[in-house]
Amino acid sequence: MPSDESTLDNRIQGSVVRPGDPHYDEYRKVFNGMIDRRPSLIVRCASPADVAEGIAHARRHGLPLSVRSGGHGVTGDAVLDDSVCLDLRPMNSVTIDPDRRRALVGGGANWGEFDAAAQEYGLAVTGGRIRSTGVAGLTLGSGSGWLERKFGLTCDSLLSVELVTADGDVLRASETENSELFWGVRGGGGNFGVVTTFEFQLHPVGPQVLGGLVMYPPFQVADLIRQFRDFMATAPDEVGGALAFISAPDEPFVPEFARGKPVVGATLAYFGPIEEGIEVLRPMREFGPPVRDMVAPIAYTDLQGLLEPSNHEGMQNYWKAEFLAELPDEAIDHIVRFTQTVPSRLTQTLLMPLGGALARVDNNAMAFGQREAPFNIHIMSMWEDAADTERQISWTREFHRAVQPYSTGGAYLNFIGNEGGDRIKAAFGPEKYERLVRLKRRYDPSNVFAGNQNIPPQAEAVEEEPKETDGQGHFAPLAVLELLNGMWVARALQVAAHLRIAEQLAGGPRTLTELATECGCDPAALGRLISALSTVGFFARTAEDKIQQTPLSAVLSDDHPQSVGAVARLFGSNWQWQAWSQLEHSVRNGEPALDQVLGTSLLEFLDTMSPDDGALFDQAMTGLSRFLNRTILNAYDFSGAGRIADVSGGHSTLLIDILAGDPSLSGVLLDRPAITAKVRGRVREAGLGDRLDVVDCDFLRSLPEQADTIVLNRVLHDWDDDAAAGILRACRDALRPGGRIVAVEQLMTGDKRAAFLDLQMLVLRGGRERSREEMAELFGRSGLRIAETINTTSPMCLLIGHALDD
Ligand SMILES: Cc1cc2nc3c(=O)[nH]c(=O)nc-3n(C[C@H](O)[C@H](O)[C@H](O)COP(=O)(O)OP(=O)(O)OC[C@H]3O[C@@H](n4cnc5c(N)ncnc54)[C@H](O)[C@@H]3O)c2cc1C
Repeated sequence: MPSDESTLDNRIQGSVVRPGDPHYDEYRKVFNGMIDRRPSLIVRCASPADVAEGIAHARRHGLPLSVRSGGHGVTGDAVLDDSVCLDLRPMNSVTIDPDRRRALVGGGANWGEFDAAAQEYGLAVTGGRIRSTGVAGLTLGSGSGWLERKFGLTCDSLLSVELVTADGDVLRASETENSELFWGVRGGGGNFGVVTTFEFQLHPVGPQVLGGLVMYPPFQVADLIRQFRDFMATAPDEVGGALAFISAPDEPFVPEFARGKPVVGATLAYFGPIEEGIEVLRPMREFGPPVRDMVAPIAYTDLQGLLEPSNHEGMQNYWKAEFLAELPDEAIDHIVRFTQTVPSRLTQTLLMPLGGALARVDNNAMAFGQREAPFNIHIMSMWEDAADTERQISWTREFHRAVQPYSTGGAYLNFIGNEGGDRIKAAFGPEKYERLVRLKRRYDPSNVFAGNQNIPPQAEAVEEEPKETDGQGHFAPLAVLELLNGMWVARALQVAAHLRIAEQLAGGPRTLTELATECGCDPAALGRLISALSTVGFFARTAEDKIQQTPLSAVLSDDHPQSVGAVARLFGSNWQWQAWSQLEHSVRNGEPALDQVLGTSLLEFLDTMSPDDGALFDQAMTGLSRFLNRTILNAYDFSGAGRIADVSGGHSTLLIDILAGDPSLSGVLLDRPAITAKVRGRVREAGLGDRLDVVDCDFLRSLPEQADTIVLNRVLHDWDDDAAAGILRACRDALRPGGRIVAVEQLMTGDKRAAFLDLQMLVLRGGRERSREEMAELFGRSGLRIAETINTTSPMCLLIGHALDD
């Protein structure tokens, strides 16, 4: 055992569990059965000091860090592969002060433990609806529960936290102490540190409350949702509950004909005098007749367990959620349609009414906002057999897509999987997100706490805290200098990628001398490059002054599954720098500067004149496709796409990925001969046999064969309007009746990324990025119309086009 690890065992009060140890498999398990990850070490923390040791150990060894409390996060980020996992469950103490109605709760306690202790004194705080859920993850994501309309969200009753930072400092944060940090932890998740103690304000609840389930048969579902919507519009704060779309259990209390069938259960609760509740809830209970009405006086702790029979740990879980701005009848029709055709008996959907106390808290009081929505819909697909995964996921996505038009545009981060940075930004809105990024830079500049709904410290478009400004622009020069320095950062990164520093660190930290020898550099100068890059999150120094990887530097390595190393090297190519040095020429003349620099077009240069640059270009595009394709496939269902033509998609692996996921589809890659010659080998390796052809074509004029679906993956932006319209026309002519075009593009929406990519297209190709309206015009010119625009979790958007006469 390496000595540092054995010291860790000795230094901590808790214990360290490794692969092969008796309880390793038990401790690494989480609620979502889809997650099967193997950390290098599980540190069972017994104190804040243990947490600090665990963090320091992970940082010293350049290992990813994760924090586990109840293990209910559907992303499974609480446990990561080859990481140090801080398991807080031994820190599960709950201390109640009944006189002051205060609770001190350990960072590893779950809701069953907390509720049981508080209910001994008839006290509670809004808590999770399943008792094994962790207090920590739920509260840091804000926390929704049956009591939320009466007492607000869980975080609304949070008074303070004790937290261990990335540097191992133990801080207290409250309204009066580290107040900005306290603002951030209420909704900002585990981004800023590990919470070891939560202090809550408790409220009198129960111990007996009125509550239970009223079950209705399928034919009443639509009317019931309407009834619930109208009832909740004027319901007092004391009413809590949700509509639960479930399959009726095989229990004696369920009539035989209804067992296993989709039913809707109105879960109702009244947190006031029971007699009063009977009157208030009457309209919901007398609507009917229900299959079964089980509303009755019930212990609050039992109400908290009401949904447990339908939530088994270890099932496959895939979740989506949306805050709904309204619930019109068409939205209800979608909910009925999907919940009545649910593909698994375990799957459930909750429609939760909001409002009441939670809506009265100032939206800016803390990181969590999104208080204006009247409903939150949570689609929880659960199934047992991994073979059903595709069917389940596609049902969930279709359902989600159907309700998205009614969304506020925000999602509840506690209820969703990894849906990407844009979704996280949308959950907070731009201003709060910027504030959170500033907080992240202050408390976790190296993104040590990255295993969560992550707010990266380097998030773009976030300026430094305007502390140097006096509000009248007197310090604007500093802001301008900061932007001008962007060139230095970009160049330093490109050189680091070229020197393969990240690859050298893959095996663990290295001394500067070792690294300089391996990379062929002057040690002192390399040290300066690394010091500069470490200020923006790339590379760090261990306590022994070795250089180690960070999550950001790791993806510069070609060995990383989501590597962008080739992209960094491509952007650092001489020809790219030379072209950008001529940006002014492009701006003055509207021509691609690169043509001047190279004396030929980019395509000609890459195809024939410089094979090494061509190979790097291929590698970079293939690398980018690796993660962009996933976001495209997550956003769009290609089943039933028939024969698919991927036009100019040679370097992308999108068509291969589509066909690999659906054996009923076939396709053809149509590209210039210089590209098809290169990709034939890759296509053969994909093992798709005669389902995938590769055909030469001049797509600017016409396509050589007809198809049901034509994919244009990041193609149109390469071309000026006339050429792009020509490509679209060729596609329309090759479209079979009823067919569709799926164009993948980054749309100009005023954000920095698309706007600067537009300049790249100007300089290199004479192409351009376009807005949704410009795209619609281009499609119109080519006899097509855009029927749908679908966002993905990456910057890419899908434009679904049909022939105008279709
Ligand atoms: C069956 C089920 C029912 C649920 N019901 C509800 C509900 O009623 N209301 C609701 O709001 N949500 C609910 N959730 C969602 C739940 O709140 C989130 O998934 C939450 O993240 C789970 O917290 P946890 O501690 O159990 O999870 P974990 O998986 O252990 O942690 C999730 C993340 O939280 C962070 N984290 C955990 N502990 C700490 C800590 N001590 N300090 C800092 N960061 C930490 C880490 O980033 C970690 O990746 C439910 C989830 C499940 C599976």
